[in-house]
Amino acid sequence: MLPRSQVDRSFGCGTAPSEEYMSMLQGVATDEQDASSARVFAAAEDPVVIDTYFHVVAASTNLADGYVTDQQLADQIAVLNEEYAPYGFQFDLKGTDRTINGNWSVDSAELDMKIALRKGDYKALNVYFQKQIGGNLGYCYFPTFVGEQTEDFYYDGCSILFSSVPGGNATNYNLGKTLTHEVGHWFGLLHTFQGNSCDGVGDIISDTPQQLSATRGCPVGRDSCPDAAGLDPIHNYMDYSYDACYEEFTPKQHKRMHNMFDSFRAEWGMKAKGKRDVKRSRQLRKKSPVNM
Ligand SMILES: [Zn+2]
Repeated sequence: MLPRSQVDRSFGCGTAPSEEYMSMLQGVATDEQDASSARVFAAAEDPVVIDTYFHVVAASTNLADGYVTDQQLADQIAVLNEEYAPYGFQFDLKGTDRTINGNWSVDSAELDMKIALRKGDYKALNVYFQKQIGGNLGYCYFPTFVGEQTEDFYYDGCSILFSSVPGGNATNYNLGKTLTHEVGHWFGLLHTFQGNSCDGVGDIISDTPQQLSATRGCPVGRDSCPDAAGLDPIHNYMDYSYDACYEEFTPKQHKRMHNMFDSFRAEWGMKAKGKRDVKRSRQLRKKSPVNM
């Protein structure tokens, strides 16, 4: 899990990878380049369907205290499904609950809240819409090796600032796309500007250009690494552009999301179904000396 003390608060999103997670992703990237491990990943016509649970956690039943409306939640799941449809994922909203709790609404008792509210297994997406989350628009947890009923299992999920839902009052960030971005992390993706470097490993995705810093707004033609190939991926969901600027994932992000979902979440808690998956899991474990 991501210790709260390590959450990067300098960006509007609070999700930041550990060293261990970065090194594991390097192993995954190497594996993806190996032609013998080439797999066909789900496309729009045959999506992976993910059980999804919404938890509204507000300080009161006033809209200003985080009590988002049913219409906003309906619009939010519609946005999520529309944006992930081209990448072979769909989200089936299995349940919505509403809790009035001042501490939980400002994210000051995260684990208590999640132990009480989390639903489904490790392949189920839990989203907490909260009144305040440390000044961030959202944060989420990367997929990893998680045991049943452990703290890491409960932490898994995405916290979303209530005002970022469609029609919310987070100016420039109220089309519901914060959730699209955060779910990208839940599927294992890093920020496109990860590392803030023009020559580092960046986001460990080879078809997103190098990017020195997060994008703000929608500056068409931005090129923070002029000596590296390509313009900044300002329309990429994993940058930090305005909602209206978000448009796409790259083919390799698409592949990575399915690879990570299949490796860590799809068969969680079940016996591995095929030899190849068992082998893959072993490989990942070997490359990932993480304390889980
Ligand atoms: Zn983020």
